[in-house]
Amino acid sequence: MKKKRGVFLAGNWKMYNGPGAARSFLSKLVERVKSSQTIEKAIMEHRLVVALFPPALSLHVFREGKEMFPFLKYGTQNVHWEKEGAYTGEISVPMLQEMACDYAIIGHSERRQLFGETDIAVGKKVCACIAGGITPVLCVGETLEERERNSTFEVVERQLTEALKDVSPKDVLASLIVAYEPVWAIGTGKNARDEDAQDVCRHIRELLSRRFGEEAGEAVSILYGGSVKPGNVEGLLRQADIDGALIGGASLQVDSYLEIIEGALKVLA
Ligand code: PEP
Repeated sequence: MKKKRGVFLAGNWKMYNGPGAARSFLSKLVERVKSSQTIEKAIMEHRLVVALFPPALSLHVFREGKEMFPFLKYGTQNVHWEKEGAYTGEISVPMLQEMACDYAIIGHSERRQLFGETDIAVGKKVCACIAGGITPVLCVGETLEERERNSTFEVVERQLTEALKDVSPKDVLASLIVAYEPVWAIGTGKNARDEDAQDVCRHIRELLSRRFGEEAGEAVSILYGGSVKPGNVEGLLRQADIDGALIGGASLQVDSYLEIIEGALKVLA
């Protein structure tokens, strides 16, 4: 089955790959992508998006190299909803615009769990991104305890409802990506089974369609994240409602990220 929405691959570098490591990663990646006509072709034909989310301090390396690798999209792992102000340690949407970012990851479970990010804060960040022309990659997903209590659908519904409460169908159509990331699968080496991930992603699409209309629900790319690796990416991407992957550990090395890209190409073939 051909992917309706193409495939979106997002590499979340978390707090790895500072400017020096980012520079060598990018030069190796550019060289390898340029020597593979299939990757470039799939990107040019808008069937594949390859994106990276480095730590904010490495963004300037992406900005400076943008002409060298126009095929590569990038963004941040977080952003504040205010444009500027006394918010020590934060970065804003205008700063992302200055760095020519395409996307921002919003509501990653590490931000929710380790930094106390609430559904309300996530909602404000989503709105600030959309208003500033940055596409939010909105993360939702249940903990192990919630899964064992059979509350997965309820949890993602609450997270989506809160995050998107001030968003219009037009915004959803033009600028939204959702990543389903079960918390118990992130960085653990234990990915969700293909069909379980598909069930939740289908549920997310149904929720979006119900709230924003079928056209918007069908247009949104829904990614799966949680221990995606070269060995499991193909099975996950073959699911009808999984349009891509959010990849942590396996996006840190050029070789494994490229193997994942190659797995996506097989699904697109
Ligand atoms: C993530 O960072 O969102 C993630 C899914 O990490 P990993 O692929 O390492 O589980």
